[in-house]
Amino acid sequence: MDEIARSLQEMPLQAAVVWCIGINIGLFILAIAFGELFVRLFRHRRITPPAAMLTWTEILLSISCVALNSIVMIIGVVLYKAGTVEILTNGPAWRVVLDVIVLLSVMDVAMYLLHRIAHIPGIYAVVHQTHHSYENPRPLTLFVLNPFEVLGFGSLWLLVISLYSSTAMGMTIYLALNLAFGTIGHLGVEPLPRRWNQSWTWWISTSTFHAGHHTSLETNFGFYTLIWDYLLGTLDAEAQD
Ligand SMILES: [Zn+2]
Ligand SMILES: [Zn+2]
Repeated sequence: MDEIARSLQEMPLQAAVVWCIGINIGLFILAIAFGELFVRLFRHRRITPPAAMLTWTEILLSISCVALNSIVMIIGVVLYKAGTVEILTNGPAWRVVLDVIVLLSVMDVAMYLLHRIAHIPGIYAVVHQTHHSYENPRPLTLFVLNPFEVLGFGSLWLLVISLYSSTAMGMTIYLALNLAFGTIGHLGVEPLPRRWNQSWTWWISTSTFHAGHHTSLETNFGFYTLIWDYLLGTLDAEAQD
């Protein structure tokens, strides 16, 4: 990862643009492939009815999401080249662990708050209703987002990495976890055993947890943890059972 960060710094912008688009298309294919594989492997553990027939709206919104995510990444590379975003290379292992914890924690609280704001009537209709048009999610639903929403989360990410210098590896692990949580949240099946929710891991977001948000718009706003839903009274405890 350090090597990639260093070569991005020296890469001409045009090549970096191609690189960003390629990475985003690759991650999209990876998320859909793993998601669909899990849906098939755990089809006996459905938590929502199967999603309706795929529509062109979903396909077009997903393409726009991947395109906008690529643009956000390109802006990130430009900010990195300009020195606004600092990416540390050769960081020790403890620093990588710290970066993952910091990025997950900061993004968890900030995205919880942004998600609550996105549900305020008026804002909801413009920004977030698109995603909630799909009550029964499928892996693709992760990418079926209103362009304003994609840019909102993208801007938050750029702000966070402009303020916090992370190691390249820490940032990569965070982004991989973010994609994994997003994919898991839209499976429509629950791959984890029931005892997961009864152990110390109960506070980590699961497929059932986010499916609960798609069913009831008043609860389960968190992305990685249930902590903020628990503290701010929006947790639907039954949604984790
Ligand atoms: Zn929502
Ligand atoms: Zn969702």
